[in-house]
Amino acid sequence: MQMVNFKKDIGIGDLRRFVRMGHALFTLKSEKTGQHYTYRITRIEKSNNAGSNLVWGKVRKGNKIINDWKPSPACYLYFISFLHSGEKYEYLGVFNQFDFSIRLTGKSKVTADAPVYKAIDYFLNLLKIVAPADVNSAFKNPEDYEKWAQGCDDFLARKYQEYAPYLTIYHANKCCCCGRELTEPESVELGIGPICRTGDWY
Ligand SMILES: [Zn+2]
Repeated sequence: MQMVNFKKDIGIGDLRRFVRMGHALFTLKSEKTGQHYTYRITRIEKSNNAGSNLVWGKVRKGNKIINDWKPSPACYLYFISFLHSGEKYEYLGVFNQFDFSIRLTGKSKVTADAPVYKAIDYFLNLLKIVAPADVNSAFKNPEDYEKWAQGCDDFLARKYQEYAPYLTIYHANKCCCCGRELTEPESVELGIGPICRTGDWY
């Protein structure tokens, strides 16, 4: 498997999208120890109760892409697996798309002490945004939302500066949404193809 770099200044917002699109295949490498692990985050549709959850992500307003809340079009279930040996992946746990936590289950092949678990847990923690418990009352006025969103952007940008020197993230040069091989330079930098990234979702 050929791994490639994301663009140098990839934002945490793009990485949040990348891991939730359904076909994320990536490697995390610690620049401190040289240790690296490869993961897959796959998504299956659980049910179609549209609007049951609000998701923070990229939303299109006319020609503009902004960060906003949007009802989730479906409920998804995410599984994380890790490359064990050769081309064999082992099941690690369930990924929570809302709070970016990992849940180990009875079938998990590792425990929370395993370095392969700690690495992905650390990475997903970097991508975490703590949303207000009650979105509707927290954002009664548009200015409230603007203020909160700006705070998140600043927070994520600061976190990125902190980890960027110590953690390198690679992807498998396949679209994180449809799994097709990427060729266009911008798609390679983002880990998502031109058609999939114009989608309405995220
Ligand atoms: Zn695609």
